[in-house]
Amino acid sequence: KGTLAERLLRLAGSGRPPATLRAVDGVDLAVARGEVLGLVGESGCGKSTLARIATGILPPTAGTVVYDGRPTAGLTGRARLDYLLKVQMIFQDPYASLDPRMRVSRIIGEALSVHGLVAKADLAAAVDRAMGEVGLDRAYRDRYPHQFSGGQRQRIGIARALAVKPDFLVCDEPVSALDVSIQAQVVNLFMDLRARHGLTYLFVSHDLGLVRHISDRVAIMYLGRIVESGPAADIFAKPAHPYSAALIKAIPSARRRKRDFQPLQGELPSPLAPPGGCPFHPRCEHAMAVCREVRPAFVEIAPGRQAACHLHTPAESP
Ligand code: SF4
Ligand code: MG
Repeated sequence: KGTLAERLLRLAGSGRPPATLRAVDGVDLAVARGEVLGLVGESGCGKSTLARIATGILPPTAGTVVYDGRPTAGLTGRARLDYLLKVQMIFQDPYASLDPRMRVSRIIGEALSVHGLVAKADLAAAVDRAMGEVGLDRAYRDRYPHQFSGGQRQRIGIARALAVKPDFLVCDEPVSALDVSIQAQVVNLFMDLRARHGLTYLFVSHDLGLVRHISDRVAIMYLGRIVESGPAADIFAKPAHPYSAALIKAIPSARRRKRDFQPLQGELPSPLAPPGGCPFHPRCEHAMAVCREVRPAFVEIAPGRQAACHLHTPAESP
């Protein structure tokens, strides 16, 4: 039992970091209605934690989540339910987030019936509609999750989210568990749904090539902090932060020849003991003396663009 969100959190596994780990720190991120914000970083950088906090599945230990102009922490009753329904999460592993003992129709219709959002007599039609939205054959409504392919299972997860008519989808690596041949189909589905319903997306991915393709704006995360954000086209044309530049250089490209391929140098440091000063300095080819001592502030470097790097915001002398 428990709310749907609580159960999803359990199903989603160990999303909650140990208490001593600051998975996300000092992040200030806004998503405008109707936009796709791509959130990028290496695995372990805090993206999933941030996604769970945005959906209300995981309460922040400090700070505020504001939705539709209202801090979500104070919401109770109907207002809290509205927020939890309007903001839906799509998980990386569609299998782990679907109850294997439930028929697809029940998985998709569960929130509708639990919260009494449709009359009992209309439930089947609502489920059919959601299945149709994601291109699932309604003839399969009585099947179980294991009877579907990975791509179809992710469609079930999307149908479950859509059934409650959300405004905002938070997608955590929604295609990275899928075969490459299936990824594009599911990404196209996300974009179709956006056009059809005016959805807003926070699209979390380690795959910058994918994010570039679909995002209006991009935020790049490193060790629990946003290090750069701005319009996708601007960041890809001219990254401001050396970490963004390194990630962009590391995108494999059909056009790029093998000898030009530049994997990111060095290991991601342990988030339990992040380096002092600029946390990226051990891996940064532009690191200066100040970078080892002073953490750069995340500031506006051009209209609509922010970065945290001393190359753009020389630190005051200590
Ligand atoms: Fe590199 Fe210094 Fe900028 Fe950090 S602050 S990214 S170490 S140049
Ligand atoms: Mg993750």
